[in-house]
Amino acid sequence: MHTPSDAYLKLLRPLLCPCRNHSLEFLAVGHWLITALDDSNLPVHCNVCKCPGTRFDHVWRKVRHLNFRSKQVFILLQLPRIQCEEHGVRNADQRIFDNHSKYSPAFQEFVFQEFFSDQPAGSLARRMMIPTTTMMRIVQSLTSRKLAAHSQRVEGIRSNEDGLDR
Ligand SMILES: [Zn+2]
Repeated sequence: MHTPSDAYLKLLRPLLCPCRNHSLEFLAVGHWLITALDDSNLPVHCNVCKCPGTRFDHVWRKVRHLNFRSKQVFILLQLPRIQCEEHGVRNADQRIFDNHSKYSPAFQEFVFQEFFSDQPAGSLARRMMIPTTTMMRIVQSLTSRKLAAHSQRVEGIRSNEDGLDR
């Protein structure tokens, strides 16, 4: 039986911060569950302004990450919530989980990239071990977020130019 390699776990480490790998379980249905606990020695930052904050409490979040070989990888995260001076109580900033989805940003990005390479949607969904409808939802929501981020950037450039004209 294959277990996620040290390399896979090493790649995970910066994404999990301020949590760290705690345990790995093989669940009978064919997926891996990696539990990551808050490491109270590491500083925490607000997920809005990225400023340092103090720990308030924790929430448990489960997120689907990139497959390992033919296994689905889920990560159960003991995510610290922090008290930010400006934004109140917020999830700590980290990279394995975003507020939009139960799929990790890396997983969504991979699906997005693969979707626009030349392959049938059905076989991609099978390879990623997700229903086709879920795959379409990921692609749609990531597309609209990318477009929103793009138009925000354009808007920013425009208002800078307006400022220069005056
Ligand atoms: Zn903040």
